[in-house]
Amino acid sequence: MLTLLYNAFLCTGLPGGFHPDGAVLIHRSKVVWAGPLAEMPPQAEHIARRDLGGRVVIPGLINTHAHGGLSTHRGCCDEGNLFEWAATLAPQTSHLTVEDNQRGCYLAIMDMVRNGITTACDCTRYGAGVFASVASEIGMRSLSGALANSPELRRNGRPNWPLALEETMEAIEMHRGNGLARFYLGGHSPYSCTPSLLKDVKREADRLDLPFVIHVAENRRENEIVMEQYGQSPTAWLNGLGVLDSRAVLAHCVWVDENDMDILARTGAGVAHNPASNAKLASGIAPVPELRRCGVPVGLGTDSTLSNNCLDLFQEMKLSVLLQRATSLDGRIMGARDAFTMATLEGARVLNWDAEIGSIETGKEADLVVLDVSHPLGLTAERVLSDIVYHAGPQHVRGVMVAGRMIFEDGRLLNVDEPAIRRSIHEHYRHQA
Ligand SMILES: [Zn+2]
Repeated sequence: MLTLLYNAFLCTGLPGGFHPDGAVLIHRSKVVWAGPLAEMPPQAEHIARRDLGGRVVIPGLINTHAHGGLSTHRGCCDEGNLFEWAATLAPQTSHLTVEDNQRGCYLAIMDMVRNGITTACDCTRYGAGVFASVASEIGMRSLSGALANSPELRRNGRPNWPLALEETMEAIEMHRGNGLARFYLGGHSPYSCTPSLLKDVKREADRLDLPFVIHVAENRRENEIVMEQYGQSPTAWLNGLGVLDSRAVLAHCVWVDENDMDILARTGAGVAHNPASNAKLASGIAPVPELRRCGVPVGLGTDSTLSNNCLDLFQEMKLSVLLQRATSLDGRIMGARDAFTMATLEGARVLNWDAEIGSIETGKEADLVVLDVSHPLGLTAERVLSDIVYHAGPQHVRGVMVAGRMIFEDGRLLNVDEPAIRRSIHEHYRHQA
């Protein structure tokens, strides 16, 4: 049985992919055909038809960096730069259990889906498979794992390696055959991992054919610490250790110079850019136009609800453009098209998932978002693109589909009892607050 979504303003996410009378034909989890309805080839099979009433359809948004498990602590510390902030938070977050992580993941993922996010790359310290389990239950796609750290280098650190490896292997086994869940191995950062730990993690990642995730060059002080300790920039240091290649997902990369960008371009590593988090923690603004000009793929990330505090890629799209323009005084340095690509296809490239997701086209997974945006002058490609990046928000999200299944519609998550989950989480912490 085929499903046809029609009467849609379709934005496929590909160059020139704006179709005012668009349609998407879906079979099981995949897109069979997408384009102007008038050009759809005849189908032999029966088609269930769904009229989208002229709404806008875009590829599902891809969140390349998150810490869902911390969502229970939203807004617990809103002041200070990265290191000061992390030190203030440590007493509250370093003792969190895997059950706390799970509650945070529910809150994070329910928010993400409401905000049109269909895939997220999540980081935790313990419980590498928790995000994947919750995301799969809700119906969202995930790249999950735990970031190893060296306790001797990290305040309030507890050893989580090789535990992270064991947890990840267990999760891979548990989710075998689950097309929604993928996993990675990673380290927290160059300053909180010893070189031997980073090499161990990367070796295991290669052995298991998994991506490698790490925070890099987030804050200027980080660069100074790594320079004092190893005599190189964080990026050059990681490259020397052999952990950078096309399977590497690097969060932040705010403090990268030309040499670092050259390394990133040569190794094929991808960058998860978190404009709101970087601004809130006074870290700076990543040189996104320069990185992309070098050929480095850049995706957008929300980071956690502690450093953001909402998990909304519409905001990140808008901020990614505005921050560059405000600081460069160049009104053309980045535009809506750049932001939309980073939130979709380029984000998928960063996560090594672009053969399956990131755009609406034949053969890819049917991950899409239905937006209710109208325009007083009527919808055109330019206005729709402009609205997606500068005007739209979660309030415009009417439907979210992942792998051909609607998981959010008419204000309601379809696979879980959201009000009951929220009630039970609030009840749990009420006695601890
Ligand atoms: Zn992070």
